[in-house]
Amino acid sequence: MHVVVLGAGYAGVTLTRKLEASLPPEATLTLVDESDTHLVQHEVHRVIRRPSITDTIEVPLESLFDRAEIVTGRIEDVDTDTNSVVLDSGETLEYDYAGLCLGAETAFYDLPGIEAHGVPLKSVSDAERVRQQALDAIDSGEQSTFVVGGAGLSGVQVAGELATLAEEEDAADRIDVILLEQLASVAPAFPEAFQQAVADELTERDIEIRTETAVSEATESTIETRHESTGETHSINSNLFVWTGGIGGSAAMAGDRPVVQSDLRLTKSTFALGDAAKIVDADGEAVPASASAAIRSANVAAKNISQLVEWELSDREGFEPRLKQFRFDVPGWIVSVGDGAIAQVGPKVVTGTAAKALKASVGAGYLSSVRAIRQATELVGEELNA
Ligand SMILES: Cc1cc2nc3c(=O)[nH]c(=O)nc-3n(C[C@H](O)[C@H](O)[C@H](O)COP(=O)(O)OP(=O)(O)OC[C@H]3O[C@@H](n4cnc5c(N)ncnc54)[C@H](O)[C@@H]3O)c2cc1C
Repeated sequence: MHVVVLGAGYAGVTLTRKLEASLPPEATLTLVDESDTHLVQHEVHRVIRRPSITDTIEVPLESLFDRAEIVTGRIEDVDTDTNSVVLDSGETLEYDYAGLCLGAETAFYDLPGIEAHGVPLKSVSDAERVRQQALDAIDSGEQSTFVVGGAGLSGVQVAGELATLAEEEDAADRIDVILLEQLASVAPAFPEAFQQAVADELTERDIEIRTETAVSEATESTIETRHESTGETHSINSNLFVWTGGIGGSAAMAGDRPVVQSDLRLTKSTFALGDAAKIVDADGEAVPASASAAIRSANVAAKNISQLVEWELSDREGFEPRLKQFRFDVPGWIVSVGDGAIAQVGPKVVTGTAAKALKASVGAGYLSSVRAIRQATELVGEELNA
């Protein structure tokens, strides 16, 4: 019996670690990723201001697992009808059960010029590119504008890093940071009190927020926008354009993020979780694409896959096991805005040192849970000194 985990982000790493503990010894376990490191993606915006954090947020996969075989290669295709995965090496992996954890890719929606001129922010190299362009504009000594398109978790945090970078380089008076959001509020997928606190923190750093503002086109030096209610159009002269305006599925899934219900089952043998799927939880709620949801969905997928493997190995004795249902229940949300942070814990919103400490401890707690102890310790230092 062969179980494969496709993708080693939060969902894939958590799922693999849980399966190492719960799968019967007869089962074999393989983890596939195109990279040989696990990226702690919710910290990747920090590279814009602190490139040295890279060593902390890229964790070698070989240090995390005891039992799983790690295969490094790009997945070209996943065929959930034949239970097979094609790698860029030409090799095909067959599986009995799979966890599809390929995350998401930046979506450009075919808007003219957005992919050509907008820098996405999903990887360390994206963040390095943003840093370089920002520093070039700052070093030019000219008045410059940095535009961030999309005010979800990544856009908010990128805008915060850019404004704080300008301040640290003594260029805040020459650099304008504008954050554009198509919907009516920043952090639109999150609770209202959290949205308001995030907006306050952005405004405090002189970041201009334009909500109900859709990006319609980009050129090398301009961003065209259209107001969602009034239809008014604007052209912004921009020296740096970061695009965090949406996500789509992995190329290996032909760009699809399939919908799964609360048992996370895509087909009889394939489970889809984390950002790779649009998850509807046991309460019928759409689960926001987030590291929190990826980790929590992996706990449920691990139980379901292990139960099914055990049942198969017992020659399907009795009925198929009843699968565990995923209910997305988080204690709260935390984001950074430059050297500040906002945490929502239950109904309460916290900012300042308390929120920074919470952010550091949540990140470190996650890293410790996947055995990345050195990185956990370093992250606390990086976060508290941010
Ligand atoms: C700047 C930024 C800030 C964020 N801040 C927060 C935050 O504060 N809180 C929060 O909860 N979330 C945050 N997020 C969102 C969070 O990072 C994602 O929701 C989370 O990474 C999803 O986890 P995942 O395991 O589903 O996917 P990922 O972490 O994206 O992992 C997917 C894995 O699949 C691999 N992969 C993909 N395609 C292939 C292929 N074809 N072949 C082989 N391997 C492949 C990738 O290499 C990767 O290792 C942030 C995201 C960004 C970009």
